[in-house]
Amino acid sequence: MDKPHNALYFSRTHPASGCPCHLEVLPGGLTVSVSESSVETVPLERLSIKSGGFDYDHLILSWTTDGDERQMYVKDPIVIASLATLTAPEVSRHIARSIKDTSRARQATKMWIWLTMASLMAILVGLWAASDVLVQVAVHRIPIEWEHTLGESARQQVLMGQRVITEGPTVDAVQNMTKRLAGQLHDSPYRFRATVVRNETVNAMALPGGSVIVYTGLLKQADSPEEVAGVLAHELSHVVLRHGMESMVQSAGLMTIVMVVLGNQQGAIGALERLGIQITSLKFSRDKETAADLHGLHLLDEADISPAGMIAFFERLAKSDGMPTALLSTHPMSAERAARLKREASSLPRVSPVPLDVDWAAVKASL
Ligand SMILES: [Zn+2]
Repeated sequence: MDKPHNALYFSRTHPASGCPCHLEVLPGGLTVSVSESSVETVPLERLSIKSGGFDYDHLILSWTTDGDERQMYVKDPIVIASLATLTAPEVSRHIARSIKDTSRARQATKMWIWLTMASLMAILVGLWAASDVLVQVAVHRIPIEWEHTLGESARQQVLMGQRVITEGPTVDAVQNMTKRLAGQLHDSPYRFRATVVRNETVNAMALPGGSVIVYTGLLKQADSPEEVAGVLAHELSHVVLRHGMESMVQSAGLMTIVMVVLGNQQGAIGALERLGIQITSLKFSRDKETAADLHGLHLLDEADISPAGMIAFFERLAKSDGMPTALLSTHPMSAERAARLKREASSLPRVSPVPLDVDWAAVKASL
């Protein structure tokens, strides 16, 4: 009976695709059996050995018999191990090196397959998330000056027809809070400035570039200056995280923004409006709102302002019914949102907050 095949034999007398054979490694040399009647013995010292095969997982044994160059492809680990133990030390070293090369090549192959699969996965996931990532990349390349341009146009648009309060306790209070929070945004390229508008709507916004607008309706609804500071911290975080720019690019496309900014700058917002984009009523995704909440909470903490005000105000808005709040239309408040803030706040180190330098009674009296 033929012995099981464990190697492939190439010689002038065999087919070009090789001849399956049984290889045995004995102390005297290799015994190659192609069939029961065809057995050949090759002394070990006549062998030259190297690694090869598609992914270098074979040993190739070569020798010459009667002027005919012969080769044997071996993959069987038992044969490879016996070759290593029986061959002369210099050949053993060669085999050891080949085995090492083989396993390294095999690992490289596995790594290559793994990388290919990972790349494919990345492309699939990337396509799914591409729009968001591309927008972020694009926005982070937009010069800050453009944000100032768009923000200033938006500010003029928001304040058109509104009664701007230029002095008094509300202006002092809002400017004081904005300054205290902005003081923690070291190296920020934005110019934060606050404007108070006499309007019963519960609203506050921060525009690209750093303009903050607070409606007296929000001040009326607040029970403490810390509550107002909480809303401001959230709004400033939208600016720092460039959420306004991202939303504009997402709605209008980057090229439109480029043309709007590089074109007639005075009419930037008008141009956006014609495209159906109202910078002041841009809604952010839930992810962006969460990011602004958490960033705002840490901003309060760094400014030594108690985050309890922010949480209390958000909780009250979540429960409010029939209140004229523009803030709610762009900021759906939920118990879940307040709970998340509470959890985050409880993980902050306990530092006694420093009260805001605000005449709150005078603010309330002036409303
Ligand atoms: Zn927000």
